[in-house]
Amino acid sequence: MIENPIVWPNGARCAVSFTFDMDADSILHVAHPKDSATRVASISMLHYGPKVAIPRILETYRRFEIKQTFFIPAWCIEQYPAAIEAIVENGHEIAHHGYIHEHPNELTREEEAYWLDRGCDTIKRFTGQAPRGWRAPLYNMSEHSADLLIERGFSYDASLMGDDVPYLLRTNAGELVELPSSWALDDWPQYMHSIDLDFQMPIQSPQRAVEVFKAEFDAAWEYGGLFIPVWHPFLSGRLARWHEVSKLIEYMMQKGDVWFARMDEIAAHVQRSVRTGVYTPRIDSLPYYQGPVKANK
Ligand SMILES: [Zn+2]
Repeated sequence: MIENPIVWPNGARCAVSFTFDMDADSILHVAHPKDSATRVASISMLHYGPKVAIPRILETYRRFEIKQTFFIPAWCIEQYPAAIEAIVENGHEIAHHGYIHEHPNELTREEEAYWLDRGCDTIKRFTGQAPRGWRAPLYNMSEHSADLLIERGFSYDASLMGDDVPYLLRTNAGELVELPSSWALDDWPQYMHSIDLDFQMPIQSPQRAVEVFKAEFDAAWEYGGLFIPVWHPFLSGRLARWHEVSKLIEYMMQKGDVWFARMDEIAAHVQRSVRTGVYTPRIDSLPYYQGPVKANK
């Protein structure tokens, strides 16, 4: 089923990295720059992430002894230092997720570079290390993003959906590992309901949502893929939902032969496999198009 599977460490059948995008209320301020402060209930819903869900998620990870990755806008890092400290202390990775969840594909190259650099500075200040990975806010990668990441020495991107296994993005500036996800692995379509944020998804039961995620995991396990859910603490970290996810982790552990890893560890494994000739990944050259695509008569 997978034409070009990668060999995972220690005979694992698949790699698993639960990635949380800890957006907190950054998304509200971007959506409503004039009056976000007046939308108190929405702020409280989004504060649930850093204040309630993060400690809960970290406790579960401690129990299962796994280290994972959190993509966090730099503004949230500055705003919620206690959550950040706990994430770092527990040995998890903090990766770049914009400054205040701005959309790169709505910015000029210069503006995008400015916010990317501001975010890198913040992450360095709080973690002592430059970020190795990036996910575009709302997957809104621009045609400049890959170039800018490569120029700054990032090792991976996690914004795209082009494969079941890692692949490479190639631009004039060099190469970058792509660790893809998909909307089926995102908790937004399952749970996101907010009139202020203009999403009114019919809320699924946690059992139904986890059924979707579990199907993705089972297929990754069967065929040697990659399982990278894109979750949000204020959605999946809520009580009933996290309870189901805890059971899913238990199921994965029991099934066995799963490599639970941080995204930077997976990217390093891919780079090592390429370097030693063990793996020849598919390569996507970017940008896909030089301009608007039109049908010619
Ligand atoms: Zn986000």
